[in-house]
Amino acid sequence: MATIVPYTFEKKEEQAIYFTSFVKGMKVLIATEKPFAKKAVDGIVEILEGAGHTVSRLEKYTDKTQLLDAVADVDALIVRSDKITCDVLAAAPNLKIVVRAGAGYDNVDCATAKERGVVVMNTPGQNSNAVAELAIAMMIFMSRNCFTPGTGGEIKGKTLAIHAYGNVGRLVGCKGKALGMNVIAYDPFVSDNSVFECDGVEKVDSVEELYRRADFLSLHIPATPQTKGSIGYNLLTSMPKGATLVNTARKEVIDEAGLKQALTEREDLKYVSDVAPECCSELCECFGKRYFATPKKMGAETAEANINAGLAAARQIVEFFETGCTKFQVNR
Ligand code: NAD
Repeated sequence: MATIVPYTFEKKEEQAIYFTSFVKGMKVLIATEKPFAKKAVDGIVEILEGAGHTVSRLEKYTDKTQLLDAVADVDALIVRSDKITCDVLAAAPNLKIVVRAGAGYDNVDCATAKERGVVVMNTPGQNSNAVAELAIAMMIFMSRNCFTPGTGGEIKGKTLAIHAYGNVGRLVGCKGKALGMNVIAYDPFVSDNSVFECDGVEKVDSVEELYRRADFLSLHIPATPQTKGSIGYNLLTSMPKGATLVNTARKEVIDEAGLKQALTEREDLKYVSDVAPECCSELCECFGKRYFATPKKMGAETAEANINAGLAAARQIVEFFETGCTKFQVNR
């Protein structure tokens, strides 16, 4: 029976003793259906091997059985958008830690991982700038009729509403300010008002007010059981004339039936998304230049974000095995 590492300890000393027993020699798998850039892989390998671990790679795999085989003897996993479901976790009896190189971790079955004593981490903030730049680009793209001839609009002077003021939301807010936008934000979980104040961003108290005032609404909520399908008809139709919803979060947070109805009834509304909704072809057909989706999720697809997130994942694994650090654990 394989040993699974518990990650809550009664005393700090117990934790230190436990972890020092396997500081080196862990088997780390980089499992990426969509591989990291070469520079990122080289950096990850250098960090992990430099700390005494061994690294293997499973890239561009086409069948889940390849992943199931590859995880059989690994202690740690680095993944991107790869789906780490309960059968993958069951196939990896030695697994102690999974690091999702990126922000959203809805591709990992965190509850099952917790049951099995596997720590799940993300690498918050490492790809935020890439996503924030895409959100701003999308606003300009939609304002300029998807770069087709005709008179467009400017984003300067418009109200940019940020739904969720985390790593990405905050950067979008700051970039919006720099472009002369009036920025407002809503995030019930950021209790420290100085975060908004020091960015010169107005904090609003309700999601309804946020949408009611938004010329551009930039969406940054995570996909959770509470948020999935939460953005729909009522919020969308409360937006001002000519408003644009910009979604670089997750397609699952949108209530697609409500979105279609809102776009049908309000011929001035626009929707732009980093990754197509299920009803993409229908939206393309019905709403022309009022709708655009990237063909593949590309928010974090920059060389810089790739390297930042990959290297952070490697460092977090090294620290975990050396000190037991679980600072970025998301499945407590
Ligand atoms: P983050 O964890 O830094 O911020 C998320 C924020 O959402 C937090 O401030 C939290 O308080 C807030 N929040 C949570 N639930 C909320 C709710 N119900 N209402 C309002 N606010 C709520 O994450 P991030 O790095 O800013 O990323 C945000 C999301 O963007 C991720 O969860 C991910 O799904 C998505 N993302 C997409 C890409 C891409 O390639 N398009 C890349 C990175 C992240």
